[in-house]
Amino acid sequence: MAIIGRQTTIASPDNGTGLEAMLADYCSTFGNNCVRKTEAALTDSDYAKDLLMVGVLHDLKKWVQLKTPITTIANGFIINDKTFKDSADGFVYVDTNRIIISGNSLKAVKDAQLALTGGHDILIVQNGKITYFGNRKDDTHFDWFNLQNLKESNYNKVESELFSAIYISKTFKDTIDYPKLNTELRSYARQFLSIYKLKMPAKKISWFVHSNMNEYGIMSGMFGLTCPGNNSAGFSIRGEIHTNGFNTGLVKHEYSHFLFDNAIPQDNNPAFFVEGCVEYVTNLNDKDLYNERVEVARKFRDTLNYTDLIINNRDFYGQYSSANYSICGVFVKYLIDKFGVEAFKNFCLADNKKIKTKDLFKMDFDTLVNNYKSWLTTL
Ligand SMILES: [Zn+2]
Repeated sequence: MAIIGRQTTIASPDNGTGLEAMLADYCSTFGNNCVRKTEAALTDSDYAKDLLMVGVLHDLKKWVQLKTPITTIANGFIINDKTFKDSADGFVYVDTNRIIISGNSLKAVKDAQLALTGGHDILIVQNGKITYFGNRKDDTHFDWFNLQNLKESNYNKVESELFSAIYISKTFKDTIDYPKLNTELRSYARQFLSIYKLKMPAKKISWFVHSNMNEYGIMSGMFGLTCPGNNSAGFSIRGEIHTNGFNTGLVKHEYSHFLFDNAIPQDNNPAFFVEGCVEYVTNLNDKDLYNERVEVARKFRDTLNYTDLIINNRDFYGQYSSANYSICGVFVKYLIDKFGVEAFKNFCLADNKKIKTKDLFKMDFDTLVNNYKSWLTTL
């Protein structure tokens, strides 16, 4: 996306609500290059420059000015001669100096925003799933694929007790012992749910086993950006687990996200705890690994930026992601051992963690961190 790094106007409908957090987030990414405007305040020259437009489609009054190959109609939009009228239909359109994130409802806009990786000129979400994606063919059309159809054509569907279905890439050559996997995963899930006092989610998740990084990237909708956890080979997104290849530990890890996030959504939960709650259980099941990780936690004891990781949800997946994966489960153990699992879950849910620290742990955040540091030396 060429837009990043140049002065960019971030615009939204005049009456747009519910997008403030998203817009502020984008603006802070652009830093000094960000100019915020409402649609009505946009001048002709603004339309000629770099523009990020975010908003519900029927709230946008000057659609034609954006000069896209997307036609708006009464209850939706038309792309590639295909009509999208469902309230959950949304899209991301990327041009040399445009990014437009829109859709038929606020939910659709948010779904589209979550799906944006910048890898394609057009990307459609329908009912929370990525469907069409592709690039410009000519002035009015795109070459595109339907991700959901690729699942049918390129994957074999296997019935499963724990998943709504398992989709195995037709190019995946290894064999999976399903009964063994099912037994192991079922007992692991029981352990995980009982530790966190959670119920099994009512709706099952599907699982895709890919045979290479390219398949993994495309089918998960991450495209070129396959690394939410850097070197990770799996993740849980939009009600689906994706793994590059198969190993039981990886599936357990991703399945844990599904179990935990179902009750404790990631909205206010920093990556440090999203991963930490899983690694805590991994550590319980592997004493040697736990001991190694305590050493890592000690090594980074005084240099880790706890405020950024926990309060600001920043830098987890950065250059120290491997250390962070090691430390997060140790920190979660501290919270659970000292304050109990309910307090930990409430902390994950809390939107203002600085204030909530006092409510839940009866001390301020700095004291909490200091106490953790002392606890580390007692292990
Ligand atoms: Zn993870």
